Amino acid sequence: MALDPLMTYRKKRDFSATAEPYPSSLSARNGSKSNIFVVQKHDARNLHYDFRLEVDGVLKSWAIPKGPSADPSQKRLAIETEDHPLEYAKFEGTIPKGQYGAGTVIIWDTGSYRNMTEKNGRNLSIPEALEGGHIAVWLEGRKLTGGYALTRTKRGWILIKMKDEGAHSLDILKAEPRSVISGKTIEDLKENEANEDSNKRNLTN
Ligand code: MN
Repeated sequence: MALDPLMTYRKKRDFSATAEPYPSSLSARNGSKSNIFVVQKHDARNLHYDFRLEVDGVLKSWAIPKGPSADPSQKRLAIETEDHPLEYAKFEGTIPKGQYGAGTVIIWDTGSYRNMTEKNGRNLSIPEALEGGHIAVWLEGRKLTGGYALTRTKRGWILIKMKDEGAHSLDILKAEPRSVISGKTIEDLKENEANEDSNKRNLTN
């Protein structure tokens, strides 16, 4: 691992312009028993869902253009992106125009996860699994539950739901579009921002 896994995250952002968290010290959650996962719906230039897993004090991250599915027959491309700070799991809001990732973010799902990656009957750590190109996790989210597998291919990683009690064929992206934290949709947040902007204009006029 790089000495500072969040260097790329810092470099891409102007923290005087974006409300995204500036990373504080690493491994702030050392000693906590379970690891968190989060899926953020991100209405950037291209709408996508960011899937993040807490690993060694940072959030390992993938952008999923079509979003996660609970249907084991659906393969979803997941493009690896830079590590994010743990605080990012709580971020919801709008990244201003001109900034990296400009657009609105909601916390579409979050919860804890358990690593269940095995190879030849041996348990692999997540860093070992990342290195080997295959990760299996058990998610305890509000929307996503049960086993999910991430496998590295030439085109990128592929996310697939495993066949278990958390599998179903409902389109959860459509059926459950709201933030699990604020209850808001992307559209609600955008509307709030627009109102705040017009209030500001009225104040300065
Ligand atoms: Mn994103």
